[in-house]
Parts: sequence; C-alpha cells; structure tokens
Amino acid sequence: METIPEEIARQRICKFGRKILNSGLTKGTGGNISYRLSEKDILITPTGIPYPELGPGDICKVDYDGNVIETSGHETSSETPMHVHVYNKKEQVNAIMHTHSPFASTLATAGKSIPPIYYQIAFVGDEVPVAKYQTYGTLELGKAAVNALEDRNGVLLERHGVLAVEHDLESVFEVASIIEELARIYYQTLAAGITPDGLGEEEIKRLMEKFKGYGQQTT
Ligand SMILES: [Zn+2]
Repeated sequence: METIPEEIARQRICKFGRKILNSGLTKGTGGNISYRLSEKDILITPTGIPYPELGPGDICKVDYDGNVIETSGHETSSETPMHVHVYNKKEQVNAIMHTHSPFASTLATAGKSIPPIYYQIAFVGDEVPVAKYQTYGTLELGKAAVNALEDRNGVLLERHGVLAVEHDLESVFEVASIIEELARIYYQTLAAGITPDGLGEEEIKRLMEKFKGYGQQTT
C-alpha cells in the first residue's frame, strides 16, 4: 500500500476538509474524510469541528474495529463505522471522502443512479449507483455502500449524500468533485426533458484506460 508520513497525512486531511467546504461539496461541519495510514491505523476527521478551524492535531486515529487508539480530544466522525467497514472490505482503497454535495444529494434523495451519459463517468466506473438507505452512523450504511460500490470509486447514499473511495487523498477529492459534476449534468438533462443515450460499454472501457494514471501526473 502507498503510505505517506503521518504528519503529512494529517495536514492533507485538513487541506481537503477546507477544499470540500470551499468548493461547495459540503456545508458547515457536514461530510468526513479518512486515510489508511498503516495496516493498524486509520486517520479520520473528528465530529463537529468546523473545517476552517481543523488542525493536524484534531484528526482522530482509530483501528480496524473503529476503536480510538490515540485521542485528539475530540469524538471521531459519526460515520467512522462506514469508513472502517470500507477499508476492511476494499484493500486497494486508501482514502475515503463523504460529502453532502447538492446535486448528488438531490439524485440520492430521488433514488436515481447516475447513468454513463458523460465521459467523466469513467473516473468513477460504469455508473454511480445508489446504495440502499440506512441510518447515518451505522455499520449497515457501510455495508450498503460496499454492496453498491463493487469495483467503482463512488456511490450515492440514498437520501443522504456521496461516498468516494480512491488510492490517495488527491484522487478521492477529484472523484467526489466529479460525482457532483456528473450529478449536475444529469439533473440538468432531466430538467430539460432530455434522455441522453449511454456511452456504451466499449467506450467506457476505452475512457477508463485513458484515465488510468491521469492523477499521477499531478502528484
Ligand atoms: Zn453525511
């Protein structure tokens, strides 16, 4: 697995916390971010701390059962069970971002998955499916997310928001941003009464090949 030093990981989590707020992917203290630091430790944002005030020392450290192993003086994110479950089930995932971005949350509330109508879908997979509704903060929500994810990089959480997964924090922010963009475009086509054709399986495979390594040029 790819690893970065703990202090750098903590700083990046804070940076991307501010980015999800400033780019409109979430509001207030909504959403949460985590990083697979090692085979024993996961870093995750605390609950209830506004992103502009979040510092590296505020980030919580938990194990793969979700137990706090190093206190930051704050409670861990309410969605810790979901994050931990995804890391336990998806060994290639090193970074997770959960947001309440507005267009994606709208489709999630309508129970509408995002079909492959726009080329950037290939950053996520063949579609962005909807994970079945479960109460926030539960292990069941994590199970529903994993069931819907399969080999994709993101899902909509029914009547709730977005879950994006990737191999690093930079890429997971890209995926969370792209899901919101895909949702906005799909919503706009629906609002205009348009039903675009899908790109087709072959073209999606071609796009996935082209996007492989895309993020690695900028890191
Ligand atoms: Zn949430």
